[in-house]
Amino acid sequence: MTKMTPLLQRNERFARIYTPVALGLPAAQVIIVTCLDHRVDPATVLGLQLGDAPVIRNAGGRVTQAVIDDLAYLAFLAEQLSGGQGAEDGLVEIAVIHHTQCGTGLLADPGFRHQAAASTGLSEAALEASAVADPHTTVKTDVERLIAARALPPTVSVSGHVYDIATGRVTTTLDPRHP
Ligand SMILES: [Zn+2]
Repeated sequence: MTKMTPLLQRNERFARIYTPVALGLPAAQVIIVTCLDHRVDPATVLGLQLGDAPVIRNAGGRVTQAVIDDLAYLAFLAEQLSGGQGAEDGLVEIAVIHHTQCGTGLLADPGFRHQAAASTGLSEAALEASAVADPHTTVKTDVERLIAARALPPTVSVSGHVYDIATGRVTTTLDPRHP
C-alpha cells in the first residue's frame, strides 16, 4: 500500500475506457505555461482533453530558460507535424497563465526568502525571480520575455492570462502577439 494506491485504482478505471491519441498537432493549438499548484490544473480549469494542449508547469508558471528551451522544441515539432501548413495566423498560441494566491508569492517577503534559500540551497536572487506576488505584473513580464526570446519562431503567438483562485475564472490580460 502506497499513497499512490487509490490513484492507481482510478487509473485502472481510466485505462478500461481509454482510447490512445496519435502524436500530432495539439487539437486546441495551444501550449499552456502555468503554475504547478494543485489548485490550478489546466485540464480541469480549461476543460482540456487528451491531445488538446501540451502543458509546461513549474513554480509560479514562470518563463525560465528551461521553459523557453521546451517551447522552442515544441514549436519546431509543431511545424514539422503541420507539414508547413497553418503558419499564417499562427500555428500555436502559447498561453502563460499566472494565478492569485500563488505559493511563490511568499518569496516576496525577504525573511521568508532568506529562510527558503538557507533550507533549499537555492540563491535568494533565483527565489525572488520566481515569486508571483501580483500575477498581473508577472504574467506581463513573462509574456514579454517570450516575445523577446530568439529561440521562438514567428509561427507561434504568445498571450497572458490570470486565473483567480477565488472565482475559478481565467481572465485574459494580454492578447496574442508574435515574437
Ligand atoms: Zn502558484
